Amino acid sequence: MPLSDQSPLPQDFVELSARLGQDPLRVQGPGGNTSIKLGNILWIKASGTELAEARNGSIFVAVDLAGARNEARGAGDGTCMACLVDKTQSLRPSIETTFHALIEWPVVAHIHSVVTITHGINPEGRAAAREKLAGLPVDFIPYRKPGRPLTERIATTLDRTTQIWVLENHGLVCAGPDTTAVASLVEEVERRLELAPCATEMPDPAEPAPYGYNWLAASAGIAGDHRLCRLALGGSYYPDHVVFLGPALPEWRDGLVAPAAVRSGRGLVVKETATSAQRAMARCLVDVLKRLPPDWTPQKLSPEQEGELLNWDAEKYRQALAARRAEA
Ligand SMILES: [Zn+2]
Repeated sequence: MPLSDQSPLPQDFVELSARLGQDPLRVQGPGGNTSIKLGNILWIKASGTELAEARNGSIFVAVDLAGARNEARGAGDGTCMACLVDKTQSLRPSIETTFHALIEWPVVAHIHSVVTITHGINPEGRAAAREKLAGLPVDFIPYRKPGRPLTERIATTLDRTTQIWVLENHGLVCAGPDTTAVASLVEEVERRLELAPCATEMPDPAEPAPYGYNWLAASAGIAGDHRLCRLALGGSYYPDHVVFLGPALPEWRDGLVAPAAVRSGRGLVVKETATSAQRAMARCLVDVLKRLPPDWTPQKLSPEQEGELLNWDAEKYRQALAARRAEA
């Protein structure tokens, strides 16, 4: 059942969901998801909806908690579609429903926190995060494809005391007995992982953006820094980048159709027709790179990991990769 005026969801849970969704340093576009367990029902953000819209209704769907837990442990297809309380409505549960179900805590928030991503994409940052989060009930989860593969990895070290999961090359999960507890955990992690952004400038306004594209605000410093520029062109570091912008970013050139690209030395450009999710993801990359300390060494997703995210069959993906390499 979609969220309606008769929604049983506590207002503070809806408010937290909206607040997280409206902060681009925590959630970008349709990324991230929150859930609350009420009796034997798990209410979770629907796939493709935006947390930022939580106050406006119908972004949450109800699934049978026991059924979703069974799917987390291997039953069904892992989508939890079969667990929908109202199978006649059109929304699907988030692809990440299974780990929300598996975690026993009543309230779970999963966000694509920029500072967590910046720490979690490289070994130096992961080590730093372990020190900074010492004393908190935290677990570190190596990268797995979102959905049941990630849930299965979380399950291998799951215990009842853990309330924070740093998902390497992905994001953050915080869970607790109620919304207030989860909100303060998110704040505590964000505070401890804070990284000062390097100075970034607007691209030179005197130079017009390439036809059909707009400059991305504050991206000139990234494109003017050889190392950061190489990182943007060289790979993708977390799932939603791949899903919305494709693997890595291309260098801009005439005739390009990509939603976002790098003009080395100048700035990042975003296509005028890009979706809001694509714009949010381009900004996320800038926000991550401008916080990256110079001695941290990001590990990109492998072509196989990118391929499974794009849900292309291996052959089609290999062809696309080959084409990209041929252009390089
Ligand atoms: Zn996620």
